[in-house]
Amino acid sequence: MTTITQPSQEVSGSVQDRTRLYVDGQWVASAGEGTIDVLNPATEQVIARVAEGDPADVDRAVAAARAAFPAWSALPPAERAVYLRRIGEELAAHTDELAELMSADVGTPVEIAKAVQVGLPTFTFGNFADLAESYDWAGREVGNSLVVREPVGVVAAITPWNFPMHQVALKAAAALAAGCTVVVKPSEVAPLGIYALTEIVDRVGLPPGVFNLISGPGPVVGEALVAHPGVDAVSFTGSTRAGRRIAEVAAADVKRVSLELGGKSPNVVLDDADFEAAVADTFGMCFLNSGQTCAALTRLLVPAKRLEEAEQIAKRVAETWTAGDPAEATTLIGPLVSEAQRERVRSYIRTGVEEGARLVTGGEGSDQATGYYVPPTVFSGVTADMTIAREEIFGPVLSIMPYEDEADAVSIANGTDYGLSARVWSGDPDRAMRVARQLRAGQVTINDGAFNPAAPFGGYKQSGLGREGGEDGLAEFLETKAIQR
Ligand code: NAD
Repeated sequence: MTTITQPSQEVSGSVQDRTRLYVDGQWVASAGEGTIDVLNPATEQVIARVAEGDPADVDRAVAAARAAFPAWSALPPAERAVYLRRIGEELAAHTDELAELMSADVGTPVEIAKAVQVGLPTFTFGNFADLAESYDWAGREVGNSLVVREPVGVVAAITPWNFPMHQVALKAAAALAAGCTVVVKPSEVAPLGIYALTEIVDRVGLPPGVFNLISGPGPVVGEALVAHPGVDAVSFTGSTRAGRRIAEVAAADVKRVSLELGGKSPNVVLDDADFEAAVADTFGMCFLNSGQTCAALTRLLVPAKRLEEAEQIAKRVAETWTAGDPAEATTLIGPLVSEAQRERVRSYIRTGVEEGARLVTGGEGSDQATGYYVPPTVFSGVTADMTIAREEIFGPVLSIMPYEDEADAVSIANGTDYGLSARVWSGDPDRAMRVARQLRAGQVTINDGAFNPAAPFGGYKQSGLGREGGEDGLAEFLETKAIQR
């Protein structure tokens, strides 16, 4: 959670000073004077200050990235891989302290933060080091043409607050592996992990200007970065609303844009599934990070005749997810990231009740006097026309939706503006695969298949454009050139 303060405002001694930007290999002062407070969402206390930033910071960072591009892109990919691997190793070596930092910043329970907030970016840096080495940089022959891939240039990476370091890693590691240089603009809401990552980048000695960090509100600093003529490509993760605006601004000079946006993902339980396992499993992916997960499975689709049974299982399982202190090792679900986010989630819960959905457990209230908590909440009897079935809530709220038959289930599952992720449960692998192929989403999981961070991730429809992760993620930062001879 952030609030803007004036530079003269007193901030207590335990508050981290993160007001410097990282430009051209140096920690430098912002051209702007304002700062932004960063709050711990469990304690509501200020834990850090970052620079409010200024468009002049964008000019400096882009100039540094442009100047660094010729040498970095000319470096053999295997040498770029050495830097990426070292960043991954440093992240791994500092997992515990980074998890504590990001738990305090985002509200993710600390043990989950180790696996997700730190584990995923650690994997991603290592994976892109491997890809830089194994990618076929020599190109391919097509008739009398040699088709080669080349780095796109200077990349603007703009990221949200829910998995801050993971989202930067997916962009920066891929872009650096491709031979691009990067200007990162993280969310002002939970930026501390990115400052820690940047210290690691500095320690491993990445050449000056290859990786730059700026800070500030999206509509001012972010938009100046997207509009900057020195930026060749924009890679954005965040809301569909901001993504639409970024695509519009980038279109002015036809910049390449990748967008990872929101979701309203279905978990489709077919009538031949292991019902108890399928319903119970939904909560891991719906409540992860207090539901602030773009790929959260927020719509549980069950056969109409088993709706009551699903409600009973859901109530029992949801009530084991008691919200608590994210710093405790046993906590499964922490607070929402900010007061604004809590208000947004509460308002969706009110809308659910008003539109006639049945509240099975949870609601607006909270057991905690301090912290931005919302209890794990389950609605049933949710129909496709209801707001809570269509809009991304980004909180711990599950909607159980009844369907009549397989075709109806597929139609409800595909019936939103989004298409990021989906899951299908069936006892018959062929049937599960057939339904998985009909779901209009970039990631579909069958039964309890594990998340694969090396696989491409991204959305159909208004969930985005392009893919992150693996070779598809690398390709987002490559141009294609055909040389005829
Ligand atoms: P947001 O869109 O408000 O902000 C994301 C980033 O964009 C921030 O750094 C912000 O400062 C910047 N920004 C905002 N407006 C901008 C503008 N006009 N120009 C340039 N930059 C701008 O999103 P948020 O609230 O930080 O994150 C939550 C949203 O992100 C959710 O909707 C969620 O679904 C989505 N998300 C998607 C994915 C994915 O991979 N598809 C992953 C995580 C989060």
